[in-house]
Amino acid sequence: MTTFDLRQAKLRPGEEYRDEHEVALSPYDLGGQRYLPVPENVTAELTINRGTSGTTFELRFPVRLHGPCYRCLKDAVLDLSIHAREYQATSPGEADELRTPYVADEQLKLSDWARDAIALELPQQILCRSDCAGLCPMCGEDLNENPHEHEDERLDPRWAALEELKEKL
Ligand SMILES: [Zn+2]
Ligand SMILES: [Zn+2]
Repeated sequence: MTTFDLRQAKLRPGEEYRDEHEVALSPYDLGGQRYLPVPENVTAELTINRGTSGTTFELRFPVRLHGPCYRCLKDAVLDLSIHAREYQATSPGEADELRTPYVADEQLKLSDWARDAIALELPQQILCRSDCAGLCPMCGEDLNENPHEHEDERLDPRWAALEELKEKL
């Protein structure tokens, strides 16, 4: 877990801090599958702007996730470009919208923040390619490699009997 000690930035109102930080990321579970960030540590650009009434935090980094395609289970890769913003008022009082959940005791929780920021950008399904045909629901074969259809009616003897009847009519 990566955190950043905000006392290191020593910001006065009107000042800006900008630096690169290595942020440790953890795997994601999505649709029952596991996706790994590669590499596990990303280099993120952290910008902190201190105003008179509050502080703005920005985090930017590219990330690549590896895991199984939702449809065909082959390797899929997802590239994302993350740009997250958070705000913390100097005296937030009780108002939740004036405070970020990622700052506690002068520590900025970079790993937690980065993780949630990625989660917000994830698609519903991670695919090996947008038009992946997936696996055949009848035989489990990969429909990308071997596109086919089953004439499933013929497999059922009751339908076969009906077909015969139709032919006789
Ligand atoms: Zn696929
Ligand atoms: Zn099939």
